Amino acid sequence: AAKNDGRGRARMFNRSMMIMLEQRETLRRSLRVALKERQFFIEYQPLVELSEGIVGFEALLRWRHPYAGVVPPSVFIPMAEADGLMGDIGAWVLEQACREASTWPSHFIVAVNLSPAEFLRRSFTDRVSGILDAAEFPAERLEIEITETVLLERTTKNLDILHTLEVLGVRIALDDFGTRYSSLSYLQSFPFDTIKIDRHFIKDVETNPKSQTIVRFVIGLAHGLGMRITAEGVETAGQATWLRREKCDRLQGHLLGAPMSSEAIGDFLRQGSFATGWIS
Ligand code: C2E
Ligand code: MG
Ligand code: MG
Ligand code: MG
Repeated sequence: AAKNDGRGRARMFNRSMMIMLEQRETLRRSLRVALKERQFFIEYQPLVELSEGIVGFEALLRWRHPYAGVVPPSVFIPMAEADGLMGDIGAWVLEQACREASTWPSHFIVAVNLSPAEFLRRSFTDRVSGILDAAEFPAERLEIEITETVLLERTTKNLDILHTLEVLGVRIALDDFGTRYSSLSYLQSFPFDTIKIDRHFIKDVETNPKSQTIVRFVIGLAHGLGMRITAEGVETAGQATWLRREKCDRLQGHLLGAPMSSEAIGDFLRQGSFATGWIS
């Protein structure tokens, strides 16, 4: 297949692009049966409050494809969204996460990511309260993570949804802050409990004065608005120490614990490897 690139030259699809596209198409087709065939599972990554230690886990969806192995969400979630599958998959994630979190210490929260397609689905909030009731899971232990993309459209509707969640007692986190269409007006109008600053800014926060300025600013912004701040992608003790000094509330990242299976959580908690006393 050849396409004109607009400057009069034919752009040829080469063989490896072709193979890639075919694989994506194959993956896409098998995504349709993945839910029914129970190929999805959730890994959980610890959320660590610097003043309290571990406070819960973020649910991260994985797909165990029978031939391709474990496919990361960055690959299959966009496909699922494009094919209108994300509503059903998202409902499964929420149910499964509440079910598994019911077995954790009773003060732990579970944070669940939500894509725009799920959020904008009709009667989304009824579905959330239905799932919480069925799992007998307290709304206060659920944190829903949304990105700014969710907030781009239908603003009054979004505000209504967020307020309904707030009334239910569900907490709301703004995920990947700083990477997309960051607009401060969201922060003025939406009832976020937590802002999660993207790992892009944490990566070089020990050495890059610009990252330092941005992270300091976002911490101050969150606190000034009465919100909690979480740093994503914390990988080194140096980053953790810097973030503690700057009064960041929560840390998440491989330093504190990588995503793990539900079965591994018990051992992880018994080991106490999440203790933060050593962060100076
Ligand atoms: P996210 O919500 O920002 O999740 C954090 C991502 O950073 C996860 O990638 C996690 O594995 C990774 N991560 C955590 N700590 C570190 C670290 O120290 N270093 C590095 N380099 N990475 C770290 P993952 O699991 O591949 O998920 C990617 C994205 O997929 C998530 O980003 C989220 O936007 C989306 N996602 C995952 N599960 C779900 C889900 O159930 N529903 C929806 N709608 N989206 C999901
Ligand atoms: Mg998230
Ligand atoms: Mg994030
Ligand atoms: Mg992120």
